[in-house]
Amino acid sequence: MRKKFCTAVVLAAGQGKRMGAKVAKQYLTIAGRPILAHALAAFEKSPLIDAIVLVVGDEGQISYCKKEIVDAYKFQKVDIITTGGKERYDSVWRALRAIRDGGQAHGGKNADGGLPASAREGFVFIHDGARPVVTQEILERCLDAAERYGACVAAMPVKDTIKIADEQGFTRYTPRRDLVWMMQTPQTFSFPLIYEAYRRMEEGRAQWEKEGLRITDDAMVVETFLERKVKLVKGSYENIKVTTPEDLKLAELFLGEEGQHFL
Ligand code: C5P
Repeated sequence: MRKKFCTAVVLAAGQGKRMGAKVAKQYLTIAGRPILAHALAAFEKSPLIDAIVLVVGDEGQISYCKKEIVDAYKFQKVDIITTGGKERYDSVWRALRAIRDGGQAHGGKNADGGLPASAREGFVFIHDGARPVVTQEILERCLDAAERYGACVAAMPVKDTIKIADEQGFTRYTPRRDLVWMMQTPQTFSFPLIYEAYRRMEEGRAQWEKEGLRITDDAMVVETFLERKVKLVKGSYENIKVTTPEDLKLAELFLGEEGQHFL
């Protein structure tokens, strides 16, 4: 079977408030380069990936990323740079619509629209721009599982006991540890499947917003709006999301001095 077209959606439209820095966390430098550049490099390097859609915070970040990241590191696969939305799921929905439209009116870099029609029949790897240590092996495992199951997410078993708390900060119950996993990215899907899940999310927005549902990853969109299970795929304990200051040191350690994707 010929490999289908694979698009990576790299999300960098968050503000990274938990980092407490002036600059959004994805632009902080580790191992000599911005965190976002490490994340993009993993996809640029992968023979599985045909195109990258980069989602940033605003118009200013579009020109910054074009010059200081895409041109500076000579990334060839970044075909679309678009702005995101208020929440992570708004940013993903923007990217999915850009893929649907082939990039037209979404900052596609090619005059002919940026992405071919086959992108709409292929797979999408949705990745946090704040996860710079994703490996080639994780991308391979994700594509294998997405081809088999249509929807998968990189994840790892938790090491600590997890407690569900009540609103007053007391323990409520303890889920069975061997069934508790930490979700990572990439979260990988067939395009028609993830597009339909997000379309239904949008359609039902008034209702679930009223109910106070908080959507924090793509797998949750598939579970909730398609009522479909998502396969867990082994990520890695090094594939951390850089969120708080101590994560910077860990990511730097895991990336190595040169940054593993640039070797
Ligand atoms: O906030 P959180 O750490 O869950 O964000 C995960 C990823 O989603 C980050 O790479 C962030 O830049 C991105 N994001 C986004 N649009 C938002 C919020 C977060 O692209 N509105």
